Amino acid sequence: MSVMDLVVSYEVSNRGTPVLICNGYKFGLRKAESNDVKKRWVCTRMSKGCRAVLLTVYDAVVRSNTEHNH
Ligand SMILES: [Zn+2]
Repeated sequence: MSVMDLVVSYEVSNRGTPVLICNGYKFGLRKAESNDVKKRWVCTRMSKGCRAVLLTVYDAVVRSNTEHNH
């Protein structure tokens, strides 16, 4: 499965921060590049050791590591 097949959707968390949802997993916005086009998203379980990340450009996934540890 290529990253282009990943279906993602977007939400806003209770705290007003953007949340990306992919395959039922939630990712928080880690860092927006200065032009705000490229965005890095990390799994919300990162603090528990999950290393899944997504990189989006114009809200399309261009790179991903979707190997979750949970
Ligand atoms: Zn995860």
